[in-house]
Amino acid sequence: MNAEAASGLPSAIKNPGDAVDIAGVPDSDKLPLVLVVVADDDGVTRAMVSGWLRDSGVDVVAARDGDEALVVATAQKPDLLIVDVTMPGRDGHDVCRAIQAASAVPPPVIFLTAHTTTTARVAGLDAGAVDYIVKPFEQAELVARVRAALRTKAARDGFVEQATRDRLTGLLNRREIDVHAEAAVSLAHRHGRSVSFLMVDIDYFKRINDRYGDAAGDEVLREVARRIFAACRASDVVGRYGGEEFLLILPETLVDAAATTGDKIRRVLSEEPVKCDDLRIAITASVGVAELNPGMRTAELYEAADRALYRAKELGRNRTELHRPDLDLVSD
Ligand SMILES: [Mg+2]
Repeated sequence: MNAEAASGLPSAIKNPGDAVDIAGVPDSDKLPLVLVVVADDDGVTRAMVSGWLRDSGVDVVAARDGDEALVVATAQKPDLLIVDVTMPGRDGHDVCRAIQAASAVPPPVIFLTAHTTTTARVAGLDAGAVDYIVKPFEQAELVARVRAALRTKAARDGFVEQATRDRLTGLLNRREIDVHAEAAVSLAHRHGRSVSFLMVDIDYFKRINDRYGDAAGDEVLREVARRIFAACRASDVVGRYGGEEFLLILPETLVDAAATTGDKIRRVLSEEPVKCDDLRIAITASVGVAELNPGMRTAELYEAADRALYRAKELGRNRTELHRPDLDLVSD
């Protein structure tokens, strides 16, 4: 889970509800603003490929061997790697496998090789490469294959975006927030650190839909998402948990600090009505907070936050309640 994924994509929340653009790479001679790593132990090939790509408008980082390629790939997160198969030390296949193992959505790898046998090509594709360019090759072929690989990557990134984001608000969706929750809890247990869950529920949301219509309700949800996201730290994970309910995962945060965040969120939601055409819709929210206790499972932490939220509703709404083991019947 990298920092960008954990914080949610700001670009997605800037225009929540926008369709995800999977058209991606323009099909012209100029390649989009991308970073490509070119790894080849042969200086002539390295300089030639790098030069051709730069002429196409691509940023290039050249690497002299496999180890250097991996260091650069880890540090700079390139959009594509072009890797010579035969290099001293880590060869192209090793580099490709390491790249595949390092990320759930690794950048595509194109191999450069002098091998023309079917066995060699199959071995390369089995190592995870998306394409294979046989030396010698020409500039037009190289650029065309790079463009094709980037187009495929743009489409894949779009699908990943669609699969992990709530379409209405741009926040993480329920399935994705569950993945982050499991990871945060196991990390906290392993290192003896704290983590708190915060459940935010818009008060009387059904009345908003009934009174102003579903479109206004949707705009309220989008605006609530924007305000919650803006009120969070970069390390916090925010998702739409369901209907009008949002879940925040606050790493390294004890319950009292989490409650302060909860109060801040309630304030930013209630201090300014949501504008929707000519309407100004006043909203409040209730918040339930729970922190991870030793031995607690993720499902129990969800339940604890949910019980606290339930109590906030029972006690009159527009308030933050902490999980109380003596009041909320959750085993911990
Ligand atoms: Mg070589």
